[in-house]
Amino acid sequence: MAGYTPMIQQYLSVKEEAKDAFLFFRLGDFYEMFFDDAINASRELEITLTGREGGGNGKIPMCGVPYHSAENYINRLIEKGYKVAICEQVEDPSVAKGVVRREIVRIVTPGTVMEAKSLEGKSNNFIASVASAGGMLGVAACDLSTGELYVTSFPDSAASMMDELNVYAPSEVVGDDGLIQVLSGNAAWSRQIPLTERSAVSRERVAAQFGEEQLAGLPEARFKAVSVLTGYLEETQKRSLGHVTTIKSYEPNQFMILDHYTRRNLELTETVRDRSKKGSLLWLLDRTGTSMGARLLRRWIDKPLLSRSAIDRRLDAVETLYRDLILREDVRAELSPIYDLERLVGRVAFGNANGRDLNALKSSLRRIPSLTALCAASGSAVLQELVRDADDCADLADMIETVIVEEPPVSIREGGLIRAGYDDYLDQLREASTNGKKWLAELERTERESTGIKSLKIGYNKVFGYYLEVSKTNLSMLPEGRYERKQTLANAERFVTPELKEKERLILEAEDKMVDLEHARFLELRDHIALHLHRLQQAATMIAELDVYQSFATVSAERRYIRPSMTEGFEVAVAEGRHPVVEAMMDGESFIANDTRLSAEEQRILLITGPNMAGKSTYMRQAALISVMAQIGCFVPAKSAVLPLVDRIFTRIGAADDLIGGQSTFMVEMKDIQTMTEKATSASLVIIDELGRGTSTGEGMAIAQAVIEYVHHHIGCKALVSTHFHELAHLEDSLASLSNVRMAVEESGDDVTFLRKLIPGAASTSYGIYCAQLAGLPNSIISRAYELLDETDSGITGRQTTQDANSTPQVENRASAPYSLPATKEPAIVAESDTSKAGPVVQLSMFGE
Ligand code: ADP
Repeated sequence: MAGYTPMIQQYLSVKEEAKDAFLFFRLGDFYEMFFDDAINASRELEITLTGREGGGNGKIPMCGVPYHSAENYINRLIEKGYKVAICEQVEDPSVAKGVVRREIVRIVTPGTVMEAKSLEGKSNNFIASVASAGGMLGVAACDLSTGELYVTSFPDSAASMMDELNVYAPSEVVGDDGLIQVLSGNAAWSRQIPLTERSAVSRERVAAQFGEEQLAGLPEARFKAVSVLTGYLEETQKRSLGHVTTIKSYEPNQFMILDHYTRRNLELTETVRDRSKKGSLLWLLDRTGTSMGARLLRRWIDKPLLSRSAIDRRLDAVETLYRDLILREDVRAELSPIYDLERLVGRVAFGNANGRDLNALKSSLRRIPSLTALCAASGSAVLQELVRDADDCADLADMIETVIVEEPPVSIREGGLIRAGYDDYLDQLREASTNGKKWLAELERTERESTGIKSLKIGYNKVFGYYLEVSKTNLSMLPEGRYERKQTLANAERFVTPELKEKERLILEAEDKMVDLEHARFLELRDHIALHLHRLQQAATMIAELDVYQSFATVSAERRYIRPSMTEGFEVAVAEGRHPVVEAMMDGESFIANDTRLSAEEQRILLITGPNMAGKSTYMRQAALISVMAQIGCFVPAKSAVLPLVDRIFTRIGAADDLIGGQSTFMVEMKDIQTMTEKATSASLVIIDELGRGTSTGEGMAIAQAVIEYVHHHIGCKALVSTHFHELAHLEDSLASLSNVRMAVEESGDDVTFLRKLIPGAASTSYGIYCAQLAGLPNSIISRAYELLDETDSGITGRQTTQDANSTPQVENRASAPYSLPATKEPAIVAESDTSKAGPVVQLSMFGE
């Protein structure tokens, strides 16, 4: 460091404390960055890189941002996944000896942003921690903006860790013992977020935050995860976090397990194609009126329940709101003006709530009594219980009402916040200032009169204070002596008089005192509210829960969903089930409902065949989504539904992210299947789309058969398996609990109509070439493919189903027409005789020209 100026030496020693962050070093009205930080920041923020003499050899790279617009720049860095350490001057430069003392006051990181601009209201912003102890792995997740903290633990496994972390979609992870290494080295962990290694801190420090009682029963791994997180939050936030005080500890087996791919495949919170919310289950079910409700809904979707009584409790509440339109509308009307209480509480605790925030808090609290009354009168035991001990925090709302004006400014340091009548001294100062201003107005009038200059005016600026301004043309009218010249402008002169100076002193003194006093009064109020954070958080929780119930009830009523009947048994009996999202996206056209019936003995596995686009995967996802919806406590799209508790859903559905880490599609499929064989229980639901694709036909078919047999014999779970190997239909003969089903297709003349109806039996062909034709491949390729198929098919013996035996395409047919479907013994594969009822959904003309 030798050779550097004292200021640069100070910079370097502060930088030691925040090596992995950009250091925003406060110099006057700027935050400056030096050395590599400056080079990198100028690139990331597209700001000019300059240099500064600082001792040492040559200029030191430097760039800076004005402090008043720093938030913008900080946000941009945070969004890119960086951390920003804010270093302020912590002593008054006028009294400092030597270099002003500077300290890091906070490190902003992607997982700990508190600024409203960078937080999306409808989703949480979690920072997660991972820690291992005694063969167990603990995962904690905290949303600093709302104060929530969740923690769980499970037997140590990288896959389980990733599954659990993915539930929270954290924007940052801290952790110990090389777990961070595991994450950073894992291809399946695709999040580009900061991973920071930190160890647990002392028990005393954790107890200071949460109280010894909460820690007492916490298993070691969970404690460690919380400890790592606590240490990191202390290190970065450097202030008390009075709103993060409750640890919500849960067992993983309280919830349905959904791995990352299943979440994606089922499009629970975002679509696979463009990762947008629109088109996801969350999008469909989100009719919440508050941000807290929206976030809770997302958490419920992320963690479906496994307890029948807990599910029924939710369904009871939803049913009451579902049946009572007026109640529902009233609740919605009361909810919609409520602000984000959780985040307001967070801001109060964090010390960055302003006057407007407190008023938002107040007006939100004012809604609680009517919400409580609505629930109390609803006739629903669950809703009544929800509000039984509800605290409307009226004392806090009243207090805000008495202290804060109706429309306070954004800043809390410029006055204009506190109501008249609240503080006597403040009122006196205000009067002094108002009187002073009246006096000024009077002075302006008398000066105009005595000088005869009509345009003479009194003004104010920060440098000269109050002045009299006279335009150059009128200067000659000014009497000599009394006026002292202060400033000359292009076409005017500014003057002061001794009495003006005297009045100015009184006015400015009063204003200074007023601003300070208002600030102090405001902080008093905010600190007082901060003593009641827990009460406010409880109110927020109650509102959020009610909001999700009404959201479920609203969607369910609009879309004619029904209450599922949950059982502890095995059977699934869904009559006329629909895919909720596909149905919602089909404007005008009607979705074709299908039954799903699965039972322990006769029909545990459905082997689904049928051409591409027939609706197989929609049908399978529909079954999974109905289970998820039921287990989060929502009504389901069906005519009736009896559902068991599903402990885990596996999906193996070819998706866009097949090619992770350079693995082949087939390898990914096999790994997923391996996880399934290891983790699935008889209470799981397994969904495999196009089992066995991605390798040669012979091998693919062999593996598919072996997997199906394994699921049948060893797992005993419910499974929906689609395959284009219609040859596998023979499995129905050897596997007692497997049934062949197919999506009905009507072929007549040149048209093929997808009926979207699930019917018994296996399809007679894979329709692969037919599909190629739909895709518009040249005719010559299509006819050639049929030719080749003929040759192969005539070579295949054995393994064909009776249906298939007669399904060999007839060459003559194709020779006469450019292409046609392979002829079957029965020309149409239709179940219902009355196809108009099922309603052809898609009519595809194959012979366009
Ligand atoms: P497959 O898996 O057999 O290739 P999909 O399930 O992807 O077919 O369905 C193809 C399209 O058909 C879907 O995008 C959807 O628009 C439509 N579809 C599927 N099932 C139905 C249904 N039951 N009713 C109406 N349209 C459906």
